[in-house]
Amino acid sequence: MKKAVGGSQSGDRAFPLPDLDHGMAEQDRQKGAAEPSEVWQTYQGASTGTEIECEGWRQEAALRVLNNNLDPEVAEKPEELIVYGGTGRAARSWDDYDVIVEELRELGDEETLLVQSGRAVGRFETHERAPRVLIANSNLVGKWDNWEQFHELEAKGLIMYGQMTAGSWAYIGTQGILQGTYETLAELARQEFQSDLTGRLVATGGLGGMGGAQPLAVTMNGGVCLAAEVDERRIDRRVEGGYCMEKATDFDEALSQAREAAQAGEPYSVGVKMNAADFLDALLDREIVPDVVTDQTSAHDELEGYYPSGYSVDEADELRERDPEKYREESLATMERHVDAILELQERGAVAFEYGNNIRGQVETAFDRADAFDFPGFVPAYIRPMFCRGKGPFRWLALSGNPADIHRTDEAIRELFPEKERLLRWLDLADEHIEFQGLPSRVCWLGYETDADGLTERTRFAVRINDLVAEGEIEAPIAVTRDHLDAGSVASPNRETEAMKDGSDAIADWPILNALLNTAAGADIVSVHDGGGVGIGNAIHTNNHVVLDGSDLAEAKARNVFTTDPGMGVIRHADAGYQDAIDAAKESDVAVPLRDQR
Ligand code: NAD
Repeated sequence: MKKAVGGSQSGDRAFPLPDLDHGMAEQDRQKGAAEPSEVWQTYQGASTGTEIECEGWRQEAALRVLNNNLDPEVAEKPEELIVYGGTGRAARSWDDYDVIVEELRELGDEETLLVQSGRAVGRFETHERAPRVLIANSNLVGKWDNWEQFHELEAKGLIMYGQMTAGSWAYIGTQGILQGTYETLAELARQEFQSDLTGRLVATGGLGGMGGAQPLAVTMNGGVCLAAEVDERRIDRRVEGGYCMEKATDFDEALSQAREAAQAGEPYSVGVKMNAADFLDALLDREIVPDVVTDQTSAHDELEGYYPSGYSVDEADELRERDPEKYREESLATMERHVDAILELQERGAVAFEYGNNIRGQVETAFDRADAFDFPGFVPAYIRPMFCRGKGPFRWLALSGNPADIHRTDEAIRELFPEKERLLRWLDLADEHIEFQGLPSRVCWLGYETDADGLTERTRFAVRINDLVAEGEIEAPIAVTRDHLDAGSVASPNRETEAMKDGSDAIADWPILNALLNTAAGADIVSVHDGGGVGIGNAIHTNNHVVLDGSDLAEAKARNVFTTDPGMGVIRHADAGYQDAIDAAKESDVAVPLRDQR
């Protein structure tokens, strides 16, 4: 594509409105049921190379990451604008997608585009260091902050579910969560088995966008994964992408292969086509206790994410259309049985944990079952110590589309952090196992920890990438972003902030401050969402992107953003009284005013 000539300047069209005059029911349009836009059909993924069609690389980066989210190789159902996580969308409707693309093409270097729930709603003159795009998705005022209100507003075409990285244009395919899943399981194995997962059987459900990382993360840790998934196409997709070794339609056959592999200490993974609740019941019936049991079906959404037992995918989809109330009831009833089975397996000796899909919260709310929380969430169990040190899933994309650019960044990490064995082992595994989806990208958990010059891990790495772009060793700019699931960017009482030491689980001031700080620090895209991972009303969380184009401005932004952003993780956990965070603050000289004044 060519660079646009003579793009509009600030004030030309400050409030872009999509052309909604196509005679289509708003609900259909809203849910992406319309024919995919011609513009999207032309792109089918991000543009690559060094030619740009926008006014500058920051805008071009926004356009490329949006289109990367909707790349058929990356997204789960791009023709419905769905990226992952149940109905997590990148734009509200195809008309809205078209308008966003047009706005990004025209956006000036001193302008900021505002996106409200997947719709471009305004464009203002700001300044060069300000974000080019500010995004707010799915947010509702407290009393109205629930799925019921959300679905009413969604049907009127007023709001969109952005999940975490879908509506913030930061999804990089299943590999985005792979390292987190790998690290979580490594930590679990260390704590529970004092080794890796060799010889251990992990039983789980859900092989969607995120859940699909589970089989590979288990085998990377040496273990065996038996995963139930109702939708055969999803199993096929994971097998084709190298995330899962085999597909099975016969439970007993899959079970016996999995047990054989575990006994032999061989890494092995199989996706079995069945409902996850039935699957766990089948294990109980046969008196098989896996070493680990968890789940990543989209239980956060009982209507559009989770499948009730007793229906094929097509039958369930038809029931949802015909009788949503009945669907909801059946779905929640299956979830209760699902949670009961996890509790029973835990009772019989399995290590059980919830993998961030709010299945415990759903059952507690629907059936008044406080005991649904009798098995832990993965964050307090395995992730929080890393959050205390500002460590989280930092990720970056090669806007050139050239895999060599990512391989050069891999080398840069090896040069910068030769002493970090766990990080280097991850890089080796990623190199060996990950097939890029869409724009080549990478994820590594990096944190605050400062060097002698006071630069955080993330800053050191970002500044190095920026230098490599400036020196021409990397072909085109790199867009750096992260998951919303990060150290200081989420309030989610059933997940990231479950069981905080000081009881501050539900306080959303922290992520809001995080987004404001990211804007002040000059990130290029900043977003604030409601309901990612665990469903509407259950979380507030934020994200950022910084475009490293080799310029001094990019370096200045990187220095600020990658200090302040992980720094939020340190101060948030120090404030809650975690000693690890208080130590990290002391070691890395993070200002904690109350402590400093004392
Ligand atoms: P997805 O919607 O892409 O995939 C969910 C999969 O579960 C689908 O393939 C679906 O067919 C399957 N499924 C639904 N109900 C089922 C049932 N009863 N039995 C068997 N299979 C069933 O979602 P995703 O992106 O994979 O995310 C999965 C869940 O994990 C979501 O709730 C999401 O919010 C949560 N999540 C977790 C993390 C994390 O870090 N652990 C991160 C993001 C999201």
